Amino acid sequence: MAVNTPMMEQYLKIKADHKDAFLFFRLGDFYEMFFDDAIQAARELEITLTKRDGGKQDSVPMCGVPYHSAETYIKTLIDKGYKVAICEQVEDPKATKGVVKREVIQLITPGTVMENTMLDEQSNHYIASISHFSEGSYVIVYNDLSVGETNVALISAGWNAVLHELYNQPVKEMVISSELPDVLQNDLKDKLNITLSYMDDTTFNAEYRELCSHLNDQRLVKAFSRLLNYIQETQKRSLDHLQPAAVIELDQHLSLDMYSKRNLELTETIMKKGKHGSLLWVLDQTVTAMGSRMLKKWLDRPLLYKQEIENRLNVVEQLLNGFMERDELRETLRSVYDLERLAGRIAYGNVNARDLLQLKQSLAKIPDVKQILSVFNDDGIRAFYNKLQYPEDLVSLLEQSLADEPPISITEGSIIKDGYDEKLDSYREASRNGKQWIAELEQKEKAATGIKSLKVGFNRVFGYYIEVTKANLHLLPEERYERKQTLTNAERYITPELKEKEALILEAEEKSVDLEYQLFNTIRDTVKEHISSIQLLAETISQIDVLQGFATVSESNGYTRPVFSSHRLSINNGRHPVVEQVMHDDTFVPNHIQLDDETSILLITGPNMSGKSTYMRQLALTVIMGQIGCYVPCEAAELLLFDQIFTRIGAADDLVSGQSTFMVEMLETNHAIENATENSLILLDEIGRGTSTYDGMALAQAVVEHIHDKIHAKTVFSTHYHELTALENSLEKLKNIHVRADEYDGNVIFLHQVKEGAADQSYGIQVAKLAELPSPLIERANTILDQLENSDTTKTDDSGQLSFFGEENSVKEKKPVAEQTESIILNDLKTMNLFDMTPLDAMNTLYRLQQKA
Ligand code: ADP
Repeated sequence: MAVNTPMMEQYLKIKADHKDAFLFFRLGDFYEMFFDDAIQAARELEITLTKRDGGKQDSVPMCGVPYHSAETYIKTLIDKGYKVAICEQVEDPKATKGVVKREVIQLITPGTVMENTMLDEQSNHYIASISHFSEGSYVIVYNDLSVGETNVALISAGWNAVLHELYNQPVKEMVISSELPDVLQNDLKDKLNITLSYMDDTTFNAEYRELCSHLNDQRLVKAFSRLLNYIQETQKRSLDHLQPAAVIELDQHLSLDMYSKRNLELTETIMKKGKHGSLLWVLDQTVTAMGSRMLKKWLDRPLLYKQEIENRLNVVEQLLNGFMERDELRETLRSVYDLERLAGRIAYGNVNARDLLQLKQSLAKIPDVKQILSVFNDDGIRAFYNKLQYPEDLVSLLEQSLADEPPISITEGSIIKDGYDEKLDSYREASRNGKQWIAELEQKEKAATGIKSLKVGFNRVFGYYIEVTKANLHLLPEERYERKQTLTNAERYITPELKEKEALILEAEEKSVDLEYQLFNTIRDTVKEHISSIQLLAETISQIDVLQGFATVSESNGYTRPVFSSHRLSINNGRHPVVEQVMHDDTFVPNHIQLDDETSILLITGPNMSGKSTYMRQLALTVIMGQIGCYVPCEAAELLLFDQIFTRIGAADDLVSGQSTFMVEMLETNHAIENATENSLILLDEIGRGTSTYDGMALAQAVVEHIHDKIHAKTVFSTHYHELTALENSLEKLKNIHVRADEYDGNVIFLHQVKEGAADQSYGIQVAKLAELPSPLIERANTILDQLENSDTTKTDDSGQLSFFGEENSVKEKKPVAEQTESIILNDLKTMNLFDMTPLDAMNTLYRLQQKA
């Protein structure tokens, strides 16, 4: 019976320890994969699947990628959420008999990649962990290995709160205990699309005492240990660039539930999942990658305390007014490289001389930045000024030591400047002298031999030589010249002196390359000692960059500085920051809004497409912009400081999750009602639309009443149920507003103006006309509307489902249909999913049914 080949035995043994990763098994110039790994990798990487004789199994599926281009393939797999174990030959094949020893030297996972090409420079890249403690309390640890930053957050409000917190965070991988219940694991995988990894061990490793010593809650330490243990196990190297864990106090920030993060399109749009069209897209006028990442973090956690916000606004105001200095600041910051990630790589040990050169160039800008900041008279700017400590010694070390244009490799020399190290200089001197001597040799030999065509040359294989053409050979005094190589027309020789000089040069060069490598490592170690101050510089620069970006965007888009009030929100001529940008021309219609002690709920009516949800989003975005310390898009703003924002806006995106629109709507509403306080902002768009009219209306009314009587949160509620406008009479703090539309010649004209009071009609049919529905259908709809409005039982001017059901009845009454057609129509009616229909869809369907009848 055949047995496995020894190499296959080795493979299987190693693979057994890395079941959840693709094992990249080094064979010569390739990384090979076998069995299921090969089948799956061939599919994912679109490479050819072949077979190999494995001994016992005589045909083993196999595929491979070349060693030198492996990075692209690894990136593809990592991007898809897989892990890759790199298995190298760890001994010299020439020096061994039998199978070369191999070991996994690194496990690359979605959360632990460090290579620049695998990271998005404008976004953090987190590996996170979740640990569960008693009574619904969880600890989330976020770590960005590429910059060494760690944040821990304690969540006591149960699993749902964990999901809301994690939503939209750039978490690529989550480390959990294998005991975390399956349903929760599935939530992470399915709802948040995160790769899971397991680490049950939460033993504290004393080596990392400094990172945790300030954490006074053992739960935080345990959770952090879980993550550290995992990182150490996979990365197999030191983690000394990690900064101490920073505790995120979630209740010290404006909190946005996942629906708001998504619906408000803060950092990416719902449909395209890209930055373009998001609030971030408008606000990001940063000029460094670090600044861009910082802005994302600020948007994710707006502030809660007035003083902190005012501090940022003060800086923005100063930078806005000092536009000359701001321009200069922007130009200076532009040449600052990604200090944060450079620091990460330095500590991690994978930097080259070019990286250190970038570090030097960036640090050398600090005095310029300080010079610019020194002009301003503001406490916040002065604080930045003081934090920017110029590491003069470090810069001059790098200046004196690093060559101006070093190569990427750190093992081939040319990275250290002349004059930095005496010994290196002496080797270089020796090599230069030798070369000089050789340069002069040609003349000397020509003179000595009288051979005019004599040449001195060099090639990689034979080294230095003296070349004499065959015709001149007789002129050569034999004894000094030793033959080295014969060409067709010439002979090449070496002399004892030349040999000696050559040896000197080679030795000097070899020694200097070795010495350069050592010197570089020493320099790198010195830089490493400055890591924490570089990290502080990086943080300060990022903050300055975000704030200059705020000043820049506030100026170019005409934003104003908000003031904060404890009892009134009043925005004068407010605009939607993103919509106004995409409209290009100046057609965006500004609107007012006011919410105060007398009015806590605004009930907004108006035709579809008139601008209700734009108005609501605009409010939320303005609030968020204010609370991150940016100016806001309006003429004047008095803002309230909100603790939380809840939104239920938009519908189209929910179908993916498999839940009906109505169910999602109720879940989101419930989430708001359960968690909102009187300091929260709630935005509810057309609640109850997803169910039958009376259900929907009843629910909508009950929700409004509940918020009004029990929660007292500031709320804007849009509805197409005009009946609800009567609530103004019974709910003291509810006020009706509407978006104005005009009718001209049977056509609706959207004015996008928000006015006091309720809308007088819904214009549903006019909107359908705008959408170019066939005119017979529009006429028919008008007739039905007349009938409905004159009938006692269903009197309403609503354009939604009521008219749909109304028409269905009238179709049946007026035009009896053949039994067969009737059953088809009935069947259509039964199977259609009303929950997912807009009024327009309903109209279209109705038209089709009518055509059938
Ligand atoms: P609704 O929620 O009432 O159905 P939307 O808020 O979705 O309406 O607005 C529909 C469209 O009207 C938007 O896509 C936008 O282009 C335009 N719009 C909304 N508000 C304004 C405004 N204030 N000024 C100009 N155009 C607007």
